[in-house]
Amino acid sequence: MACIIDGKALSGKIKKNLRVDIKELKERNVFPGLAVVLAGDDPASKIYVSNKEKACQELGIHSKVYRLNSDTNQAEVMNLIEKLNNDSKIHGILVQLPLPGHIVEKEVIEAIDPKKDVDCFHPENVGRMLSGNGRMFPCTPAGVMEMLKEYEIEIVGKDAVVIGKSNIVGKPMAAMLLNAGATVTVCHSRTKDLKAHCEKADILVSAAGKAGLITADMIKSGAAVIDVGINRSEDGKIIGDVDFEKVKDVAGAITPVPGGVGPMTIAMLVKNTILATKILSL
Ligand code: NAD
Repeated sequence: MACIIDGKALSGKIKKNLRVDIKELKERNVFPGLAVVLAGDDPASKIYVSNKEKACQELGIHSKVYRLNSDTNQAEVMNLIEKLNNDSKIHGILVQLPLPGHIVEKEVIEAIDPKKDVDCFHPENVGRMLSGNGRMFPCTPAGVMEMLKEYEIEIVGKDAVVIGKSNIVGKPMAAMLLNAGATVTVCHSRTKDLKAHCEKADILVSAAGKAGLITADMIKSGAAVIDVGINRSEDGKIIGDVDFEKVKDVAGAITPVPGGVGPMTIAMLVKNTILATKILSL
């Protein structure tokens, strides 16, 4: 039976440490501020934004959500980003993706001041991360790395398989594992034999968004299995990509969904906001 990696507990521990940083900043009259830009009415985005808002409130961080209608235009979004870049009370800017289809996401992300880019999607921050010179790291893969560290899962020289090649999760996850010394394989929807790759993984990170994709027969005995996927089961429950009940009997360590990577992503967002505040203010 695998060790269950408790993302909820670890995120609580990280937030507890962040409270100390926030208190110290406030004693110097520096009040961390996060702006979240939400355009349109995607239901999942609304839930993610409300969770992020709650975490900021819980920790006493000033946060403001800018809600734009789904028919907002490029100029309106770009003007808002410029205003937030110049707002000294705002240290972190997060644009909730996806933006409505007619908005050019790339232009919006590139307009964010890299020092305020708490999602770490700006090309400058992506470049820094790739070259092993990052200041901040994308929240979800950063949360996974914290989990591996906390549970003393060895990375150096290990075979890591990342499923998914998005700019938000898969690619930065692969880069971070590579920088940490793993031999990394990235699989995606066009990969010929997913099972053959997974079977070799000492560390398997699944970020495909496909319920039931990872079954027990794909897992090397003792592997660490990190489930980033968020899917809805037929009865409306939140489930990951991994068949948790069966995989836990083969894996050495495994993250549940919910209560795994999700809370870690939010903790990392707060951590990045504090880091950005320090970079900008101290
Ligand atoms: P995405 O749709 O941009 O990317 C999915 C990737 O999975 C693609 O690269 C695709 O090629 C690959 N893929 C799809 N089907 C596959 C298959 N059958 N075999 C192999 N690869 C396959 O999604 P994303 O933004 O990277 O998010 C991935 C998942 O992680 C989603 O379920 C999302 O909701 C979840 N997510 C969770 C968190 C969190 O905090 N837990 C954060 C971000 C995303």
